Amino acid sequence: MNKNFIAGEWVDGDSAIENRNPSDISDLIGSYAQASTSQLETALESARAAQKIWARTGLEARQTALMHIGNSLMARADELGELLSREEGKPRAEGRGEVYRAGQFFTYYAAEVLRQIGDNADSVRPDIEIDVRRDPVGVVAVISPWNFPTATAVWKIAPALAFGNAVIWKPANLVPASAVALSEIIAGANLPTGLFNLVMGAGSSIGDALVTSPHIDAITFTGSVETGRRIAAGAITNMTRMQMEMGSKNALAVMDDADIDLAVACAVNGAFGGTGQKCTASSRIIVHDAVYDQFTDKMLAATRALKVGHALEDGTQIGPVVSEGQLSENLDYVALASSEGGEVLCGGERLSMKHDGYYMAPCLIAGTRNDWRINREEMFAPIACIIRASSYQDALDIVNDTPFGLTAGIMTTSLARANHFRRNADTGCVMVNLPTAGTDYHVPFGGRGDSSYGPREQGQYAVDFFTSTKTAYIAVGAVD
Ligand code: NAP
Repeated sequence: MNKNFIAGEWVDGDSAIENRNPSDISDLIGSYAQASTSQLETALESARAAQKIWARTGLEARQTALMHIGNSLMARADELGELLSREEGKPRAEGRGEVYRAGQFFTYYAAEVLRQIGDNADSVRPDIEIDVRRDPVGVVAVISPWNFPTATAVWKIAPALAFGNAVIWKPANLVPASAVALSEIIAGANLPTGLFNLVMGAGSSIGDALVTSPHIDAITFTGSVETGRRIAAGAITNMTRMQMEMGSKNALAVMDDADIDLAVACAVNGAFGGTGQKCTASSRIIVHDAVYDQFTDKMLAATRALKVGHALEDGTQIGPVVSEGQLSENLDYVALASSEGGEVLCGGERLSMKHDGYYMAPCLIAGTRNDWRINREEMFAPIACIIRASSYQDALDIVNDTPFGLTAGIMTTSLARANHFRRNADTGCVMVNLPTAGTDYHVPFGGRGDSSYGPREQGQYAVDFFTSTKTAYIAVGAVD
């Protein structure tokens, strides 16, 4: 059984779950311990003690530990990327890319360890100086989703450690193998015993116990809006600091002046990359009336040409969806699209392949309206809906007519429209002539509306969540 990492020890749980490959459900990856609430208490106590040691540890030792973790991830990106693809279902190259990117997050935050510089000022009163510095928050609960099992966790764990905090990590139960692999690397990094803890288990049990615990100081969560709301309601009792990045319903607007081939390439990449299971996926494709038919024909041909297959087989562009439950929800959305009046141009059915897995044909639906449920709710599926717009302004209005606000993109050759869109799309990230998915690690990432709550993640902006500011007043007095 694969174990949890608690107070510096690898420990069994009271029970275990099986982890199977969604590309081939006969492939059992392993069984994974489920942490008990008493083990969680042990993790919380040890994290509290270790955090005090870590906060006093010299900056170079902290920097070296993070650099070691980052370099190990990058060196082992092939092996760990394959494991990630085997349990999550994204094609091998994407799995490898995710692990390598996770390594870059650690080396980036290793450098940030040495850039922790405060402010000082004179008081408005004479002979008083002011020193403004940032202290660690304390013990941070990290809750991550299954779709980017390593990257989402790392873009929380790396800054938490860099800024002097302890971590209790609860990964999604669908992807425990990647969690154990990352934890093994972190366990080998010469951190104080108990500073980093892995507690695997279901969100409704161990996750809930973690986020409602009075012994944590902050929660950083990535997942669905529904879970985010539940966590926020539970955590507010203890006034726990929160950072939440959640779902979305991202739009790509294709203008009449766009390079249509580029627009099709960006739309297909954004809609179906990662089997559409990205918070940044382009699920609403808003197309100007003047190029609607031309764009739709070309996107249909490109969607039909996508190769669906086993995540680890050469040539696979779209892997399986992650689970039977996700697949059945996706098929229900395709049926809903038809009942709402959408025209299913291709895909949308379960595929029978040589391996028994959760395969679905990428689905393109035309003639949809923005007020239909398929364009209001996050589907997290290889399904893209085309919406017709009569003008640039109409397209922008449709882009912004959603409760979410993570990313939005525009395809245009007009500088004026590109600039106007950049400034008026009501989302945390905007893409110009690029897919809505695909972001960097050294700049902030996050959304607006229901997509996001609390301070930004990533880049230097992460410091705001993972530290607490202290303002000290010092009377300088006169010298004899
Ligand atoms: P989810 O069902 O909300 O789960 C996310 C995490 O929360 C999992 O670890 C889950 O554990 C845990 N959890 C569930 N209930 C909990 C509770 N009551 N208390 C504490 N933890 C609880 O989301 P998902 O299906 O894993 O991921 C897909 C969602 O994540 C999509 O909505 C996607 O848009 C979003 N996402 C957002 C971003 C972003 O940066 N904006 C990035 C990636 C994904 P178990 O699953 O083990 O039960």
